[in-house]
Amino acid sequence: ARVVDPGGNDDERRFEAALRPKRLADFPGQPRVSSQLALVLEAARRRGAPPDHVLLSGPPGLGKTSLAMIIAAELEQPIRITSGPAIQHAGDLAAILSSLAEGEVLFLDEIHRMARPAEEMLYLAMEDFRVDIIVGKGPGATAIPLQLPPFTVVGATTRAGLLPAPLRDRFGFTGHLDYYSGADLATILHRSAALLGVDCTPDGISEIASRSRGTPRIANRLLRRVRDYAQVHGSGIVDLEAARSALALFDVDVSGLDRLDRGVLEALCKRFAGGPVGLTTLAIAVGEEPDTVETVVEPYLVREGYLIRTPRGRAASDKAWEHLGLTPPEPAVT
Ligand code: ADP
Repeated sequence: ARVVDPGGNDDERRFEAALRPKRLADFPGQPRVSSQLALVLEAARRRGAPPDHVLLSGPPGLGKTSLAMIIAAELEQPIRITSGPAIQHAGDLAAILSSLAEGEVLFLDEIHRMARPAEEMLYLAMEDFRVDIIVGKGPGATAIPLQLPPFTVVGATTRAGLLPAPLRDRFGFTGHLDYYSGADLATILHRSAALLGVDCTPDGISEIASRSRGTPRIANRLLRRVRDYAQVHGSGIVDLEAARSALALFDVDVSGLDRLDRGVLEALCKRFAGGPVGLTTLAIAVGEEPDTVETVVEPYLVREGYLIRTPRGRAASDKAWEHLGLTPPEPAVT
């Protein structure tokens, strides 16, 4: 597992649970989504009715799950957590929907990965608070409508574009989460350090923030590694020296690129003269699957302008050459 992986794993969840902000007022960053949500929730509270269904979209590790939990906390309602991949049959969803309490929040992570028949059941449930329970099979099957108490769906997706329009339309409020600024990440890191009981210095925190790829999950993970380093090799304080040494040890460079990112850029520049080169050829050169290069490595390199996707393949930008301390070849004179 990469230390800069924006996705989490089960082992990490227990650390994350302790660091999640509990209320909207403790949730730094995302000022637009945060203030819009505050309004939607306050209006619902005053009406004494559940708010519109909420869709949160954005890359992994930016706080969608945290916000879903915050929504439930602000509404003082329980939350039921499940995910698209866990709902492979309409019956799975029917079982969940029919057991929801009035006002409960249903969090559907990775909602774009739900099975199609379940999706159709969800439309009806979101719109009319109703599910049709199918009894029997074949021509004799009948649908028995079951009325549900009103509840709130909070859907999360990394790919809002993949959601079918009818499902997207059922959400009255959509919040798009964006990568965090260094200042917001520093705020998050100061808060996490306090929760972990670790002393830190502002320059130590800024150093971690600037290498965290705009992603709180990565920031919190790097913080834990720097804390380990400080406790073993340093004064126990997360300062600039500990941050630099720990991140060098874990191969996260000043721009947040790790060994794999640099490997791809180096292959592109040194072996293919900066490209363009096909994805498969590039992947073979770094000993990875094309799919890994495309989905795990490229998004950040493209977003930060190190790598350019062209119709003829992948190419290194000037920024990539500069980052590696290499000189691009002179363009051929024709
Ligand atoms: P997502 O569901 O988008 O993948 P999570 O909500 O699971 O992201 O967040 C991942 C980690 O990052 C959690 O540990 C959470 O505490 C932290 N985190 C995310 N956003 C924030 C934020 N705005 N403030 C503080 N911590 C955050």
